[in-house]
Amino acid sequence: MGFVVAIDGTSGSGKSTTAKKVSELLDWLYLDTGATYRAVAYFVLQKGINPNDERKVIQILDELNIEIKKINGEQRTIVNGEDVSDKLRTEQVNRAVTPVSKIKEVRKYLVGIQRKIVDDKNAVIEGRDIGTVVFPDADIKFFMDADISIRAKRRKQQDGMNDLEKVKKDLERRDYHDSKRKESPLKKADDASLLDTSSLTIDEQVNIVVAKIKKLHEGVNSI
Ligand code: C5P
Repeated sequence: MGFVVAIDGTSGSGKSTTAKKVSELLDWLYLDTGATYRAVAYFVLQKGINPNDERKVIQILDELNIEIKKINGEQRTIVNGEDVSDKLRTEQVNRAVTPVSKIKEVRKYLVGIQRKIVDDKNAVIEGRDIGTVVFPDADIKFFMDADISIRAKRRKQQDGMNDLEKVKKDLERRDYHDSKRKESPLKKADDASLLDTSSLTIDEQVNIVVAKIKKLHEGVNSI
């Protein structure tokens, strides 16, 4: 088994940017599991299916092939042969991903894909249930959170959206549903370190995570 770093947390807490940078520094696999849920939501919309129609969503999993590839150093998400990475962060997908990610069968299907991608590699994996469900035995676990206004500002910048209030409402809506759902809710694993990123820069977040990895993994002392 490789060395697994699990980074869970709320939307916009800095998980993606931190996980990506840490993986680059270590030259380890990076996996954004949110992209896999977004890929299912995208496919459901493309098929004209109501994302709340559980039965139909489960049915179309048979027609779906999700691949995660690294192209020019970036994680790309391929759905049935098409690179959909740039189509996954729209308002429609943001809405559709919530009901889709509540479905037990969808989660089982995606967790299988996620574990297969990681296999036994050293990896930095980010999501909502990595430390609790996907890799409960991860070597290091973090749970990242930040003040909602700060998260909204960051997300607005990241996704090029213009209405801050709308971005904030979307984050609150997703966090609420992610935390309250029955299947694999967003919650801090008991053995995860809580990282409040409200007043931290990206570099500071990265340093905290790397310092902790260095303590436990002798192979990364040269960084
Ligand atoms: O991380 P990102 O914002 O792209 O995730 C999109 C959505 O996918 C989340 O709001 C959540 O509903 C779902 N998700 C999940 N479990 C994960 C990763 C994402 O349920 N491990």
